[in-house]
Amino acid sequence: MIKVYIGLGSNLDDPQSQLKKAIIAMEMVPSTSVAKTSSFYRSKPVGPQDQPNYVNAVVELDTELSASVLLDYLQAIENDQGRERKVKWGARTLDLDILLFGDEIINDDRLQIPHVEMQNRGFVLLPLNEIFSDCIIPGVGSVSSLLQQDNADDLIKLT
Ligand code: AMP
Repeated sequence: MIKVYIGLGSNLDDPQSQLKKAIIAMEMVPSTSVAKTSSFYRSKPVGPQDQPNYVNAVVELDTELSASVLLDYLQAIENDQGRERKVKWGARTLDLDILLFGDEIINDDRLQIPHVEMQNRGFVLLPLNEIFSDCIIPGVGSVSSLLQQDNADDLIKLT
């Protein structure tokens, strides 16, 4: 079993319901279980500002799948929930990112793990720190120290 951390985000079509639905869908992924779920947080959009605020969370999975096969399942969940890939950083019903996959470092055509932007994003670091307070991002540093430098002040805890 490998411990995996997934970042979830949505800013369309009832974002909190989208996240809840995605967590239920992740429970259905073969050889995988949801071990922990963070609180949900409201955050301001990155990139284009003419879009609604986001709801973000992080979940911990235990899986026996490879990172690539897990990504296939996560993309199928995004597609099932009406995800369209139009504008970079544009509004979306659901975004699922593999943040960490055990302590593996992966850099191939399809996957960069640790996720390249995670250390810069309070809406990832704060929920991740909530469920994995000792987290070290391989090659980067501890989430708790990054969070102190990061401005996560504008995040609003929803649940
Ligand atoms: P996005 O539009 O943010 O959902 O990005 C989707 C693309 O990012 C997909 O084509 C993935 O192959 C790629 N990608 C690279 N690294 C990751 C990762 N760690 N988790 C999820 N998608 C990733």
